[in-house]
Amino acid sequence: MKKSREGRTAPEGESPLLSREYWAAIRVWYKSGGRHHLPWRQNATPWNIMLAETLLHRTRADAIQVLYPRITEEFPGPAAIVKRESEWLEMSRSAGLTWRAVTFVSACKELLAQHGGLVPSEREALLALPGVGHYIASAVRCFGFGIPEVIVDSNTIRLSSRISGRALVASRHRSREVQKAVASLGEVGRPSSPADNYALLDLATKVCRITKPDHWGCPIRATCATGKHVIAGSASTSAT
Ligand code: SF4
Repeated sequence: MKKSREGRTAPEGESPLLSREYWAAIRVWYKSGGRHHLPWRQNATPWNIMLAETLLHRTRADAIQVLYPRITEEFPGPAAIVKRESEWLEMSRSAGLTWRAVTFVSACKELLAQHGGLVPSEREALLALPGVGHYIASAVRCFGFGIPEVIVDSNTIRLSSRISGRALVASRHRSREVQKAVASLGEVGRPSSPADNYALLDLATKVCRITKPDHWGCPIRATCATGKHVIAGSASTSAT
């Protein structure tokens, strides 16, 4: 086990799933294929990321990206949400985010009471906020503070599972097995930088999709267990 920049013990991959060569291919793909246009990537402050990830939880990015610029303009920090709670709830309700919006008000009150209105960078402090789980804590630390993190969500679990050929159960996302498997996606099996985590999430969302993954257009098909299997099967079928 290795210590992260803040001294936390970070999960390590058993061995890296992707060599430097394939990480180079992912980064080239990300330059043109990444979702750089998403508004929360333009001004990734800890507050903006916490807000965006709360809105995005179990919601498609395209449903939130229309509303997001207006929300960040109207509510630039937790004080604005607490002060104009009914407006916040109304705006969130219009996007179907009722219960999360209520919980987020509680989190904003905690930020004001315990952290001077600022989003903390420590994992434990983030996890103590209402509605903040491990995924949001990791996203805030990585994308908001620039701290290398292992981002464990259904996308990175699917990617790790398909590349390794090991069946991972997404619902067991806090298990040591899944944590280690996702950590092993990082270059040399370590937590990834913000840009590399965005690249993994975008690759999973746009190429290694839940249904109809684009194996042939995938920059890592030559090293992926599932991709190699599917492509070899297709070649043998077309040769008969
Ligand atoms: S080759 Fe296919 S299964 Fe493997 S990572 Fe790429 S899209 Fe996913």
